Formats: sequence, structure tokens, C-alpha cells
Amino acid sequence: WQEIGSQSSNETVLVTVRIRPLASMNPHDANAWSTPVDAGHPLPRTIRLADGTRKEWCFDQILPPATTNHQTYLSSALPHVRSAMQGFNAVCFAYGQTGSGKSHTMAGTVGDPGVVPLAVDEIFRIIREGRDREWVLRASYLELYNEMLVDLLTPPGPGGTTTGGEIQILNGKKEGEVQINGLTEMIVTNVAEVKKVLSIGDGRRRTGCTDWNERSSRSHSVFRIVIESRSKSNTLEDEMNTRNRGKNQATRISTLSLIDLAGSEKATASKERNAEGRYINQSLLTLKNVISKLAEQSAKKTTGHIPYRDSKLTRLLQPSLSGDAKISVICTINPSQSAIAESQSTLAFAAGIK
Ligand code: ADP
Repeated sequence: WQEIGSQSSNETVLVTVRIRPLASMNPHDANAWSTPVDAGHPLPRTIRLADGTRKEWCFDQILPPATTNHQTYLSSALPHVRSAMQGFNAVCFAYGQTGSGKSHTMAGTVGDPGVVPLAVDEIFRIIREGRDREWVLRASYLELYNEMLVDLLTPPGPGGTTTGGEIQILNGKKEGEVQINGLTEMIVTNVAEVKKVLSIGDGRRRTGCTDWNERSSRSHSVFRIVIESRSKSNTLEDEMNTRNRGKNQATRISTLSLIDLAGSEKATASKERNAEGRYINQSLLTLKNVISKLAEQSAKKTTGHIPYRDSKLTRLLQPSLSGDAKISVICTINPSQSAIAESQSTLAFAAGIK
């Protein structure tokens, strides 16, 4: 178990490890990990097994079990939401074993809202407070299941048997461009409308599946808001900036994508020899390769081939990840002794990103 990872925080990609509390129903369960606090840092950055082997892994930040959803959001997603409101693409992923806290982190609960509802609140707070711009927001919600992209905002087919409409990804007119066909985008003007979109999508995700936990652990869900804004006081200088495609331009367009990935155990389990396991494996592996290449190229200020086309997930996200996108990867682990192998595999994924 070798030391990998980097202490330096990368501008493009932020890697966070979130440790959930031990499950309270098992009194014999023990915590397998220790997270020493480094001098000068508010949060731990290293994690090691508590068995004294002292092999360490370093990340941008580690959120101990007592961390709330709100604190997780502040440290791992708020900067990305603000960046998206300023015209940069931003993507926030939750990666981890089933049961490690991905949905808890992204959706949360009514009493303890997660990244998605907190991000939506922040978006509309910025809109209310910044009166110098006009905004148009379009929300979409889709699921990638068995390499099939399903639009969760399309009503089910006759008989209610299908969960939604199938989405096609096609090559765009220009090299590297992607055209997404069949994706519903709903204009949203307040928090309540976004919540409605989310609840329609969640309802459709559950429709037609007999085992919801099994289904959700095997599919990636992508909630996306396209954010378009225009200065209300267009000066000639603004217009010039727009033409030069600078980020202070009069018209800005960006996307914020919030993604709850399929359970990572599906990618590593050796018994998982069926198509679903292979698809999940391929998409998570490609995601790691794509993000690590983006991080590397941004750090070295180089350009080069990024393997977006190696999976549907990265192909779908290509426009959102390209350019100056800000990426947050929240890797969730269950601290239990019984989950050590899966947690190590999650830490290996996280360390492989940078
Ligand atoms: P996943 O989406 O990774 O499969 P969940 O988010 O559904 O995992 O979490 C599994 C269970 O553990 C849920 O009952 C959830 O409420 C609980 N849980 C996960 N993370 C936390 C946390 N940080 N604090 C409290 N409960 C949590």
C-alpha cells in the first residue's frame, strides 16, 4: 500500500475524502482509519490505517465522520457553484462504495440537505443579490444505466413501463463537439421549481425498478443546470469582451453538473463479470483517466488528447469538463473494518486522479 497523491491543491480538480460515521446498529464495528491533523491546515489531509502500518495517503482535504453535509458543501462544492455562476463550467462528483454516503452527500435529507439542494439555494441567492444581470436557468436530470442514457424528465411511455426517454449522444458539427438529442431542459426560476424537477426525476428513476437500492447502486445520476446570464447594462466594453469570449463578458453561459456515481464496488468486484459491471468499470476508469489528464494538463499548462470517447459518461460530460471547468471529486468511505478493501480501492481511485 504505497504512498500516492499530492499535498498541493490543484486549481482544476479538488479531491476530497469524506468518511461517514460508523453504522450505529453494529456495536462491534470498529473504525479502521486515523486522520492526523497537519499543522497549519484546518482539515486533515492525510489518512492512514489505524493498525499502525503508517502507510499514508494524501488528498486536498479529508472530512472526518463528524463533518455535516453543510460543512461538506462549504469545503467541496460552494466554490464550484460560485464559479459556475461566474461563467465557468463546474462539475461535482460523489464516488464510493454503495452505502458509503454518496446520496447522503449529494441529496441529503430534509433536515440535513446535501450538495444539490444547498447549491440550488446558493444559485438563487446570488441571483437575488446580483441585480445587475439577467439570468436564464435550464435544469435537466438524467440517468446512465447499463450504458443507456435515460432522460428522467420525459414522461414514461404507454403503460408506464419505461422510466423515461432514451438520450442519444452524437458528434457535433465541429471536431470535439457533442450533440445531445432527446434531453429535456426545463426553465427554472426559483428553488421550488428546481425541487419539482428533482422530485419528478427521482420519481421516474424509481418507476419500473423492483429493487431501488440495487438500481441506484448500478446507475450514475446526472443533475445539470445550464446557467445563462446577461449584463443589464451592456457597455461597449462588455460587448467587446463578449466577442473576445472573456469571462467578464456581457453574456455568459456555463453548466453546473452534480453527479452521484454508481457504486464503485461494481467496478472492482471480481464476480461482476456481466455487462453492467463492465460498463460501470469502464465509465469509472475512463472518468479517472479523463480527470487526471485534465488536472495534469492544467498544472503543466499543456494540451493533448483526453479520452472522453472511451465511455458514455465522459462523452456526455465532455462539454462540461472541457475548457476552464472546475471539478470537485468527493470520495466517500465507510470507516468500518469490514469495508477496508473497498475503502482502499476508493482511496486508490482518489489518489489516481492527481
Ligand atoms: P450511497 O449513496 O453511497 O449508497 P447512502 O448515502 O445511501 O450511500 O448512505 C447509506 C446510509 O448511511 C444511509 O442511511 C445514510 O443516511 C447513512 N449515511 C451516509 N453517510 C452519512 C453521514 N455522513 N452521516 C450520517 N449518516 C450517513
